Amino acid sequence: MNRHPDTLSGTEIHPKHPALPYTTIFYESQEAIMITDCYSKIISVNPAFSTITGYEPSEVIGRTPSMLKSGLQDAEFYVEMWASIHKDGQWQGEIWNRRKNGEIYPEWLTIRSVNDDNGCLLNYVGMFTDITHRKNTISKLRLHAQVFSNASEGIMITDKRLKILAVNQAFTTMTGYSEQEAVGHTPGLLSSGIQNQYFYIKMWERIHSYGMWQGEIWNRRKNGDLYPEWLSISTLRDEQGHITNYIGMFTDITERKQSEEHLKYLAHFDPLTGLPNRTLLYELMNEATAQAARGKRNLAVLFVDLDRFKMVNDSLGHSIGDKLLQQVAGRLSASVTKNDIVSRLGGDEFIVVLQNLQEPSEAITTAKHIISCMKRPFLVEDNELYLTASIGICMCPSHGNDFDTLVKHADLAMYEAKLNNSGHQLFNAGIMDTFKRKLDLENELRWAASKGELQLHYQPQVHASTGRMEGMEALLRWNHPRLGTVSPSEFIPIAEETGIIMDIGKWVLKEVCSQLREWQSESLFVPAVAVNLSARQFMAADLVSSIRDIVCGTPCSPQQIVIEITESSSMNDIESVLPILHEFKSLGFQIAIDDFGKGYSALGYMKQFPIDILKIDKSFVQELTSDSKSAVITKAIIDMAHGMNLKVIAEGVETTEQLQYLRTMDCDIVQGYFIDPPMPSDRLESLYLLGV
Ligand code: C2E
Ligand code: CA
Ligand code: CA
Repeated sequence: MNRHPDTLSGTEIHPKHPALPYTTIFYESQEAIMITDCYSKIISVNPAFSTITGYEPSEVIGRTPSMLKSGLQDAEFYVEMWASIHKDGQWQGEIWNRRKNGEIYPEWLTIRSVNDDNGCLLNYVGMFTDITHRKNTISKLRLHAQVFSNASEGIMITDKRLKILAVNQAFTTMTGYSEQEAVGHTPGLLSSGIQNQYFYIKMWERIHSYGMWQGEIWNRRKNGDLYPEWLSISTLRDEQGHITNYIGMFTDITERKQSEEHLKYLAHFDPLTGLPNRTLLYELMNEATAQAARGKRNLAVLFVDLDRFKMVNDSLGHSIGDKLLQQVAGRLSASVTKNDIVSRLGGDEFIVVLQNLQEPSEAITTAKHIISCMKRPFLVEDNELYLTASIGICMCPSHGNDFDTLVKHADLAMYEAKLNNSGHQLFNAGIMDTFKRKLDLENELRWAASKGELQLHYQPQVHASTGRMEGMEALLRWNHPRLGTVSPSEFIPIAEETGIIMDIGKWVLKEVCSQLREWQSESLFVPAVAVNLSARQFMAADLVSSIRDIVCGTPCSPQQIVIEITESSSMNDIESVLPILHEFKSLGFQIAIDDFGKGYSALGYMKQFPIDILKIDKSFVQELTSDSKSAVITKAIIDMAHGMNLKVIAEGVETTEQLQYLRTMDCDIVQGYFIDPPMPSDRLESLYLLGV
């Protein structure tokens, strides 16, 4: 709304220059103009005033400018302002006012007092511009500057010729170059020489076609150190689309790289020994076998397994076990050449790969050397420890070409070495046959009970002098339609290893109970039946309850059953076996220690064992008449058993001489082929039970 009054306040503003178009200036001015009388009452405002404040002239004329106050300035501010106007005739500065709509805005305000020729105050003229936009721009710039200098990323801005214009603090921290040192140079200042020209050509191609590149790059700090950074480069363009600047932003990824390296290390090396792990071994062996194939040379894979490591670990603790493994790793590495590979598969299993061999005999020589190195005592935290190693050897290419086959065959050979206690063993076809037979047996054994292939034989145990039957031992027999009769000494270890023994053990006990019930129903006198329990069965948490349930589910009583456990399995883990034996005992079962004298018995523990019978191992009985030491031991066992009120059974009695000798030693009961071999139940019935 444009009004053009001739005068603005009833008085000419500048009577000295009446010819100038003051009115037009007043109305067209972008600056708000507000004129008050000498009492600060507003008498005139221009359109720009209305635009900025939102007030129409009619709303403000007659009022004072204090209506625009925002409250952001305190009283003192105004006191100083007026003091300046009165003293100098003017004031200017930044002030926050309030628009009609309540919005507070910053303005740049100039106030002048207008006096007449006599110096009498006529008016005040206030002129102001809204500086919101300018202030925003400034604060935005300030913000940008702050972001730039405080960013944790290094930032470098160049012109289009790649001359550095500015760098931030993070740039200086990372590269070591101050702003003064960097400005004027190109980013080539940081070049490490690691990336080739081709790399940079690709990079610039991408920047020019996509306006952006990012990636990993190695640069050099001022102190010469190389470091990896993650760099992103972007372009700034003017309105015509011409590149004006490049902005490079980067972070130092040394730490990230290090942790990546560390992860890579962990993925490829065994942290305990620092040796290559299975993953790396796989890669190294693939390379080695390929090289061997090209060079027509032999390669040997040695599977090294420590024999009594578990015992050390269990008895002295894992920390000693770990240190021992580290020393073993050290000795292994020292016993081969630099070209050979030593790796830890896990636990106490190591693989050594010997390269460039002419003859398998060289591998055997190394294996013997390793074995003798391991025999030297290890000193771990004041413990002098003795170990032996078993080594399986497999040759490439004659025994296999690929990692899996070579390691598997070496493993099988190692297993054979362990079984035979031979230290080392070269793989051969026979070992493979044994392995295949084992696999075959394992598969078939799973179904043996349900297919009715299992049978129990009973071997009588008779009084040494009277020949009266005192008991019998139930022994498993397996008749397979294809495999024929398989000996328990072959299939029981497999059943134990695979856990199949759990089910088979239950089957045996059920079978014994139903046999007992059958004999009972015929009113036959039947002595107690001994049942073998393997060490593995003791690992089942429900061993006692499952056996109790089986026996109590029949008319049999626990008193009719003797539980036979071998000396080695009972002594292996005395703490956990002892309470189980007590439970059996309290249920009424009898307990026999089998193969006594064969293991390393801790005699001190014997008296804690709730046992009824000691069974002298057949190896002693068989040497009774040929080896005086065996005779002495047998006699000692018999006397000890009697001293502890235990019955003694001598197993494996094969000759009349042995029987005679045992009689003179006061042995209670004998069992063996001389008396009778294990036999089917009906035969035992007719030979022993019906005649009684
Ligand atoms: P074991 O418990 O020591 O059983 C005695 C072994 O000696 C039996 O072998 C028996 O046939 C054999 N034997 C008996 N008299 C003589 C003799 O005069 N001379 C010789 N040389 N041997 C004799 P078998 O039946 O082959 O059983 C071998 C092993 O298999 C057993 O040794 C036992 O450890 C295990 N076994 C057998 N049946 C079972 C079972 O039902 N459960 C478990 N866990 N193991 C069983
Ligand atoms: Ca037995
Ligand atoms: Ca035995």
